[in-house]
Amino acid sequence: MSGASIIDGKAVAAQVRADIAGKVEALKSAHGFTPGLAVVLVGEDPASQVYVRNKGQQTKEVGMNSIEHKLPDTTSEAEILALVDSLNKDAGVHGILVQLPLPKHVNSEKVLNAIDPAKDVDGFHPVNVGRLWVGEPALAPCTPTGSLILAKSVQENLSGMNAVIIGRSNIVGKPMAALLLRENCTVTVAHSRTKDIQSVVKGADLVVAAVGIAEFVKGDWIKPGAIVIDVGINRVEVPGGKAKLKGDVAFAEAAAVAGAITPVPGGVGPMTIACLLKNTLQAAQMQHGLEITA
Ligand code: NAD
Repeated sequence: MSGASIIDGKAVAAQVRADIAGKVEALKSAHGFTPGLAVVLVGEDPASQVYVRNKGQQTKEVGMNSIEHKLPDTTSEAEILALVDSLNKDAGVHGILVQLPLPKHVNSEKVLNAIDPAKDVDGFHPVNVGRLWVGEPALAPCTPTGSLILAKSVQENLSGMNAVIIGRSNIVGKPMAALLLRENCTVTVAHSRTKDIQSVVKGADLVVAAVGIAEFVKGDWIKPGAIVIDVGINRVEVPGGKAKLKGDVAFAEAAAVAGAITPVPGGVGPMTIACLLKNTLQAAQMQHGLEITA
């Protein structure tokens, strides 16, 4: 079926975590401190609880301190803001992540904007967004950072490539565009109003699909040999069976044409937490005035 090589996100994420673990160890012995990541979870959302548990486990596995604050969904916005303020001031906390979604009575934007940009390991604060676009050292959002690492695992130098990103969200599409521009790609951002999206995608040497529609991108949209990074995670009900996870790309069709492609699951998904840890290490190095090696 497949002409494409399958990009193993699990294996690449494990390499990223091993690299971070080595650097955390070096930081501890050379500078005597341990990077700390604080995660704030408000409410009982089951998916969020799983994410937070995985983040905590992987944080400890790379030798960092994991600080978890689990609050009931009745917590007021003022209480969450007070917690963020205390974490901003805590020298043992180098990264702060507020797990989304927050309960409806809380203004998420206000909470995210209250995080000190130096500790904003999700890279969602407007200061980091701006720094990323002007090319200053920035904490960049984790999922696009992970997607870039996967693309570069196929081809280290992306310079001059035609990259088409499908989706313009603040957490994936837009930061992906900034990261690929920095790699000297010619970047097109396609979205729900794009005309003849199929021809736009057909011109791409690199496709990043972040649409949120299962199997949206068809095999005959893909230029032969292209690198395809599928960010989508869509739960699709299977009649009489368990729900299955599907990407935004029709995998089998696309794999027959592409040069390399990420599967779902096992592609971009595992990279997100690995890049969160990378950002935490980078934040810790920046806060201590050290060279960034993350
Ligand atoms: P979003 O809903 O915020 O954005 C989707 C984007 O797709 C929008 O910008 C929209 O313009 C575009 N779009 C929608 N319909 C379209 C159409 N018919 N044609 C072209 N473009 C269209 O979604 P998001 O948060 O960016 O996430 C996208 C996907 O990535 C989702 O499946 C999500 O679950 C997944 N995701 C995965 C990870 C991960 O860790 N792997 C992280 C974040 C998001």
